[in-house]
Amino acid sequence: MSLINTLSTEDDTFRLKNFAERHESKVRSYSRDFPVVFNRASGSLLYSDTNKPYLDFFSGAGALNYGHNNPVLKESLVSYITNDGISHGLDLFTSAKERFIRNFVQYILSPRNFDYKLQFCGPTGTNAVEAAVKIARKFTGRRNVISFTNAFHGMSLGALSLTANPKKRKGAGVSLHDTIFMPYDGYLGDGIDTSSILKAMLQDGSGLDKPAAIIVETIQGEGGVNTASKNWLRNIYRVAKELDILFIVDDIQAGCGRSGKFFSFEEYQIIPDIVVLSKSLSGYGLPMSLLLLSPDVDIWEPGEHNGTFRGNNHAFITAGTAISHFWSTKEFSDELEIKSNFFERSLNDLKQKHPHIGIRGRGFLRGISFENDKTATEVSSEAFKLGLIVETSGVRGHILKLLPALTASHQQLQDGINIISDAIHRIRGE
Ligand SMILES: *Cc1c(COP(=O)(O)O)cnc(C)c1O
Repeated sequence: MSLINTLSTEDDTFRLKNFAERHESKVRSYSRDFPVVFNRASGSLLYSDTNKPYLDFFSGAGALNYGHNNPVLKESLVSYITNDGISHGLDLFTSAKERFIRNFVQYILSPRNFDYKLQFCGPTGTNAVEAAVKIARKFTGRRNVISFTNAFHGMSLGALSLTANPKKRKGAGVSLHDTIFMPYDGYLGDGIDTSSILKAMLQDGSGLDKPAAIIVETIQGEGGVNTASKNWLRNIYRVAKELDILFIVDDIQAGCGRSGKFFSFEEYQIIPDIVVLSKSLSGYGLPMSLLLLSPDVDIWEPGEHNGTFRGNNHAFITAGTAISHFWSTKEFSDELEIKSNFFERSLNDLKQKHPHIGIRGRGFLRGISFENDKTATEVSSEAFKLGLIVETSGVRGHILKLLPALTASHQQLQDGINIISDAIHRIRGE
């Protein structure tokens, strides 16, 4: 029996926490904000080893869109394992991979008239971002890539060079180059259309070398839940098309239903050259990432972006099941729309009660801003005491970021918002 299963008292939690702190590197971060020992989880609830339930408005940073241990996904995985299905497969053809590709093409790509090639990358989002900019540079023969203020694209060097957060960049210890940052939508305040700045800077004479690609998040999850307007996104897409610059959407966090649709950009009538998916793609919290490549861009030599763990077949199984179970009919999408309208109304009610807050984001990727930057962290830790897991985001941790599971019930969505409301009252001494 594992150590964790034998623990039951607060005292044991304290011991294990000390034990982990003694042996685990200082680099850990989330466990500092939520300092208990978690033991099991189901749907939108996580339980500590003392059996205290926590409502999860963090969902593994957006890797658990269908909740913890979704029973349908669990069933398909357990039966696959029981039947000795392939677990590790490099990039070999396997029936688990074939089933995933079949479902993804049939239920996600074909209905949207998308004709992408699928590239399986190393299991993390950051590895898929590396692959995306590598192929963009190879395809165009250019070096620069345009990224945006407050962007987050991952922590390995190539992806880190596209990430704006100065603390994270400092960790590199080497120069991060061949990236140009441009102002994201709204960065210069209301009324300044930053897409026209981008357009101007790409004209001859600006001094800027023509880039291989523009990489963008339609909603900046880590960067403070900033959303790109339809106009802005379409404008920068149009500039990219006019100038033969590849257009990459990093949909790692905003994709897989988080924005309300499977892809976060699908209402915007754009077809990116490259789309990056990871986080909730496996649907079960299993590591998996995927690049969607426009077929003409797919000029890789065999093995040019290799990796041992590009064939996580357990993830292919749960991902394949997630696609057929949730996305093969309109039922889940329709329910999602109803639920995100409900969530939006509840957030607007919260603002009625606390007029000093601001609401941002869309779908199930939402943020709350406060008058004072520190408040978000205070609300997060107060909410944790009241049984809610909710994180902060943004360069100063100044935005409370709400990422409930897409499968959370109306009641759970409302309960989470009520806890946030109580936490705000407590902090203001009301
Ligand atoms: C999380 C995230 C990444 C990095 O993914 P990892 O799996 O943590 O490497 C990249 N881009 C976006 C938008 C993300 O949210």
